Amino acid sequence: MKQIKIILLAILLSLSLTGCSKNKEEKIEIIDDNYRNVYEIFVASFKDSDGDRIGDLNGVTEELDYIQDMGYTAIWFMPIHPSPSYHKYDVTDYYDIDSSFGTLEDFDKLITEAHKRDIHIILDLVVNHTSSSHPWFVDAKKAYLSGQHSDYVDWYNFSTSAKSGFTKISEGKYYEARFVDSMPDLNLDNEEVRNEIRNIMQFWIERGVDGFRLDATTSYYTGDNAANTEFLKWINDTAKELKEDCYIVGEAWTDDNTITGYYDSGVDSFFHFSMSQSEGTIVKTLKVSAPSSNFKNALQKALSITKGHIPAIFLDNHDVNRIAGGIGRSQRERIKFAYGLAGMFNGCVYTYYGTEIGMVGSGKDENKRIAMLWDSEDESTLCKNPSGATSADYVYEGVKQQQADADSILNYHKAINRLRNKYPQIARGEMNFLTAQTSQYVLSVEKSWEDTTILIVINFNEEESESVDLSELEYKSMEYVSAYNEEATFKDGELILPAYTIAVLSK
Ligand code: CA
Repeated sequence: MKQIKIILLAILLSLSLTGCSKNKEEKIEIIDDNYRNVYEIFVASFKDSDGDRIGDLNGVTEELDYIQDMGYTAIWFMPIHPSPSYHKYDVTDYYDIDSSFGTLEDFDKLITEAHKRDIHIILDLVVNHTSSSHPWFVDAKKAYLSGQHSDYVDWYNFSTSAKSGFTKISEGKYYEARFVDSMPDLNLDNEEVRNEIRNIMQFWIERGVDGFRLDATTSYYTGDNAANTEFLKWINDTAKELKEDCYIVGEAWTDDNTITGYYDSGVDSFFHFSMSQSEGTIVKTLKVSAPSSNFKNALQKALSITKGHIPAIFLDNHDVNRIAGGIGRSQRERIKFAYGLAGMFNGCVYTYYGTEIGMVGSGKDENKRIAMLWDSEDESTLCKNPSGATSADYVYEGVKQQQADADSILNYHKAINRLRNKYPQIARGEMNFLTAQTSQYVLSVEKSWEDTTILIVINFNEEESESVDLSELEYKSMEYVSAYNEEATFKDGELILPAYTIAVLSK
């Protein structure tokens, strides 16, 4: 008996080892375009490399293997330039790295190592405003107040009358600052300012940057969408002159109609706010009585809004409540499945750091930007939280623990990213909805790209398996990702999907 047990154990061991090595050998070729799985990082809270407990660029470089292993193919960095604030959205020097994050040499090393792993680098480009401590503004304000000449006065929008969105300096003297006093708006009509923005983009493109995320685009010319679109076109054209395939994604925190208009600028992507967060279209799919048709409409809408450009799908980011809290902290399968649904959209899917392990954070911005939980059993791996954070609790375990758990949120995210990387049709394909294989709880959609077609079948039923008859179709092989980690089968044309399961079939 003991001998049989040992033999059985040996067989099991060899089986699991085979499975393991098979996964490791799987080499997925990353398509060299801008349809990517993007990972958003707030550097200060991500990974510290030098013991001061402030995350830094070398810390990110240390974790590039993790980022690659998770299937992310691009990183969007929140601002990394010198800045007096913790969040760094008020820049004092666009040509350098904040000293707490490292040096330009660290950045060069990071980008070289990222590119070795087929990971693109996207930088936040904050040009609606600078810091009030930026030498340009310091000089401009001093000259404006004293009546002396400075070229920089025309770089900002000073006024002798009080207006909405303007900050008072002294009697009869104001400057435009749409967000806070410490962020004076730049005068984007000034050719010198535009030339400077061009130089900034060129500087980072020459260092290897693949794209930019444009901060606060609706505030460029507050209340004037035509002027915003014109300026967006100028930025996009300029970026593409400098680098033909430079990827531009804009933050326009507004309604779908306005975003559709902004795509006339030629900008590659705008974030789809209406799809995001716990009240958005994706999570709504988990609550409605007709999830299949709701999700079909969402897939179509993402493409109609973008007019041939690249949808930018996300569930949460640094400005909104983290999605795990919005869905419900204990709703582990719903939290997973929401990402699975986001991952089935055409375009780019964005993941805010920590969302892949179900981190929570709401209320004050600082609470949404707390330390990445690398190892729930080792507090020394935590960065310092932003000083204003009032809550920093973790519902789920850290990266290390979740990596070892096949059923974790992390491994679910990884499996979805793998599908997106393995089947380029998911992000790029032309859609064909199959009505005969679709029902209240099941959606079947083909996606075709470069003469190849795959079939995605989704079971939205939270509790029950669904059977789908595919016998009339030519699909031969099937892969799936199940939120409950249950088994799907495909035999003699019958596909049986457990609750909350996504399958991809190929011919
Ligand atoms: Ca550090």
